Amino acid sequence: MKLFSELGLRAELQTAIAEMGFENPTPIQEQTIPLLTESATDLVALAQTGTGKTAAFGLPLLNILDETRKAPQALILCPTRELCMQISKDLQAYASKMPGVKIVPVYGGAAISTQITQIKRGAHIIVATPGRLKDMIDRKALNLGEVDTVVLDEADEMLNMGFREDIDYILATTPKEKQTWLFSATMPPEVAAISRNYMDHPHEIAVGKKNSGATNIKHLYYMVSNHNRYSALKRIADYQPDIYGIIFCRTKIETQQVAENLIRDGYNADSLHGDLSQAQRDAVMRKFRSKHLQMLVATDVAARGIDVTDITHVVHYNLPEDIESYTHRSGRTARAGKHGISLAIVTPREVDKIRQIERKIGTQFVQTPVPTGIEVCEQQLLSLANKAHDVELNPDIEGYLSVILEKFEDLSKDEVIKHFLSLEFNRFLEYYRNAPDLNESARGAKPSGERASGVPMTRYFISVGELDGVDKSSMVRLLCDTTGIQNSKIGKIELRRSFSFFEVPEQFNHIVETKFEDITVNGRAIRIEKTEGGGGGGRWEKDRPAKSHFRENSGGGGGYRKSSGGEGGYRKPSGGDRNSSGGGGFKGKKKPW
Ligand code: AMP
Repeated sequence: MKLFSELGLRAELQTAIAEMGFENPTPIQEQTIPLLTESATDLVALAQTGTGKTAAFGLPLLNILDETRKAPQALILCPTRELCMQISKDLQAYASKMPGVKIVPVYGGAAISTQITQIKRGAHIIVATPGRLKDMIDRKALNLGEVDTVVLDEADEMLNMGFREDIDYILATTPKEKQTWLFSATMPPEVAAISRNYMDHPHEIAVGKKNSGATNIKHLYYMVSNHNRYSALKRIADYQPDIYGIIFCRTKIETQQVAENLIRDGYNADSLHGDLSQAQRDAVMRKFRSKHLQMLVATDVAARGIDVTDITHVVHYNLPEDIESYTHRSGRTARAGKHGISLAIVTPREVDKIRQIERKIGTQFVQTPVPTGIEVCEQQLLSLANKAHDVELNPDIEGYLSVILEKFEDLSKDEVIKHFLSLEFNRFLEYYRNAPDLNESARGAKPSGERASGVPMTRYFISVGELDGVDKSSMVRLLCDTTGIQNSKIGKIELRRSFSFFEVPEQFNHIVETKFEDITVNGRAIRIEKTEGGGGGGRWEKDRPAKSHFRENSGGGGGYRKSSGGEGGYRKPSGGDRNSSGGGGFKGKKKPW
């Protein structure tokens, strides 16, 4: 790995980036910086966001800058206002030891007159979105006749957003002999055409595989029915108490609905979409960056150019229309060398799309089951215990300690811990008590047989599972052989490792309960038990009877069932307050339960 000092950068730039904490150049910087500082050349670089591409063109650009020239000498075109501001800010930071360098951002949604004034005061580098820049050229507020470097950043996005004509128009006003550097995350034919039309034997650099996503992203998918999408999202978020993510939706309306539902259900969420005013968008982004928001629900267009380094998850609430957008969405996580998860919520019909994406990005998705209610509860309980352990203690409590300790005199340490954890945890348990299984199978888990025709069904627990060597068909045989019930009457079967669930029409309850009395499998007596709320509901507390720590913790007096006496339910977080409990690293404090 090279050092920045070996790349031929000006001392001022080296000092500035050292102060920013950049220690070593990223792979793309290692390639572009020596190349672009040593000689004038055209360049096509295939690089995702998050690879350090802004510095990959920004540092060479500043390195060759001539501060004594007054007219704009470099132009950077990028697709969105957010990215435009981000690039300007980054360049400003790299140029912090080069006083007098003027970098002017030009984007829509802000007063054009102010931007014109700034340009008139002198601009060495203009960072612009195509639409607004074209406007300025039309008003003759800007002369690009002395530009000797043009950077096209996120070229594929600019084309996706329909800026092709504007780009042609703008480039026509720049000198022919300029150098052009094109950066793109993907290389569809339209981008390749730009490089053919505007460049002269460009150098080509690729970081990672062509059209691939960043390698430190794990791609997962969850398969649910369409009407369970939102429940699955909540389950996933609850299973990851420290999630800090972007939830991508396809439309503005969906974005708004998902965000409203999340807010109603007590999450720190908000939406970002094209109908918001610029001030509203800025406010949402401020909250998200400062982690007052844990989940940002966004459309593809609105989320372009978001550069937040520690996003843990990108969630595809709905898959995008095209594969390129999938790459762009997932590139919002795993930035600056970090790891991230890109997870898609899909219906069985959409699995084909997953396969197409896999082929295109050359990476396999892992199909992951939507966590069960009890798994979510376990995860939350452990997270709560960790947070309680790590919380910064408030010194003011000291003054009240003797009075408080008196109240707990009759309890052991274990009991005190249980009391405090239960305060938060009971509502969660209550919410997930009857949580159904949300997973669908690839064939589409349509309710089968009688269940589909509306006959009331009873769901039974049976103490035989995969470890006993049964699969669905042998389970059906076991049930039919033992009870004499026709196999067409058997409803849904859910296999677990050491036990399973099955459904039969209510009218057969008596037969089922008596016929299984003396049956054994592998020498072991079979136990069956009716679960409450049949018809696929499933009681989570039965889902994993063998898992001990819930049992142990539950004590003798009814264990988790006690929690129903808790504080309202999950659906009604106290007074709709999104900031009232939990929290961990999140300043606004998550209030999912
Ligand atoms: P970009 O791909 O330009 O959007 O950069 C992604 C993030 O990586 C930004 O937050 C940069 O500040 C950061 N970054 C860029 N280059 C380096 C480097 N050499 N060392 C550490 N961080 C970097």
